[in-house]
Amino acid sequence: VQSSESDVDGSDVHVVARVRPLNQQEVERNDGSSTRFPSDGAILVENQTAAKTFSFHGIFQPGCTQKQVFEHSGMRRLLSMALDGYACTAFAFGQTGSGKTYTMTGPVTPEAADSMTQEKSLKDLGCYGLIQYSFAFLMEKVLEGNDVNYTVKASYLEIYNEQVQDLLNPLAYESVQVRWSKGQGFHVENLFVREIESLDDLMSVLEDGMRNRAVAEHNMNEHSSRSHSILTVYLDSESATEEGMSVTKHGKVSFVDLAGSEKVKDTGSTGETLIEATNINRSLLTLGNCISALSDPKKRTGHIPFRDSKLTKLLADGLGGSGVTLMIACVTPSSYNVSETLNTLRYAKRAR
Ligand code: ADP
Ligand code: MG
Repeated sequence: VQSSESDVDGSDVHVVARVRPLNQQEVERNDGSSTRFPSDGAILVENQTAAKTFSFHGIFQPGCTQKQVFEHSGMRRLLSMALDGYACTAFAFGQTGSGKTYTMTGPVTPEAADSMTQEKSLKDLGCYGLIQYSFAFLMEKVLEGNDVNYTVKASYLEIYNEQVQDLLNPLAYESVQVRWSKGQGFHVENLFVREIESLDDLMSVLEDGMRNRAVAEHNMNEHSSRSHSILTVYLDSESATEEGMSVTKHGKVSFVDLAGSEKVKDTGSTGETLIEATNINRSLLTLGNCISALSDPKKRTGHIPFRDSKLTKLLADGLGGSGVTLMIACVTPSSYNVSETLNTLRYAKRAR
């Protein structure tokens, strides 16, 4: 780990990179490692012809644990802001297989997803990621109270091919609609929002949604690599000032597991696949444009193109407000993937 909470420099967008270990297949294929770590907060990526160094707020090397990622990614500050009434967002971004889902929710293997259907919890399976650590942190603060009364709720949706699906209400086969209203801004109409009383309740939201995603994965090849998922925890609070005035706040935190960012090969993708790919590329591009505009003080007050995709519409209040955004760029060290690794880090750099 080459970062600490004190590295947080107060900018609204906090960017870290995580490099997963080489997997068995990559080792057997004798893939070299394309990444090195020359100094704190820096990652060097090299291919046959060139080497490029990137710097971020934090870098997580292949040996880092899930807990280290939680503790050194600025996540605690983000969650504290959400508890204090701000809208905050944490993203995992990168090519398929780079460790986005592992980072967010832990090592959910196909076997684990199947045993979850047999009434085993993520906890029984030892699955821990940024989301579960965050849940524990949030619920500890909520239940300890300290003169603040919280009402906690949660929702879980995915965006597949520009259609929004409610992962907590899979029987609503029709996709749900994104609307805009003066009071609510962009929101999903009739989205199921579950009331939360305990840490177990939050864990069930994650498990139920993941189970429903797993079903979609069985029915449709590569579903999860082509969809964005957004789990949101709403933190409404009420407290009293010294003068006895009541103060209400509406904070929230969204955890986003983005679709794979890899370039879809021009050859062979036609029809449906090509439309899907175009939608993914467009929403990731729009997200990048929004974040980069927002992280530039000169552009921040200008036009931000939230309306260009469902993803950015639904994240507009979190990204455009005064909360914190955390981007975790996930990459593989494999020399085989070096061009995607470079793309991911360049994208992250734009936000930094
Ligand atoms: P993505 O969601 O980006 O497509 P996954 O999170 O599913 O990628 O990761 C791909 C594979 O690599 C999975 O088998 C996962 O368990 C493994 N993996 C990812 N990151 C790590 C890590 N940091 N340590 C160990 N294994 C990892
Ligand atoms: Mg994934």
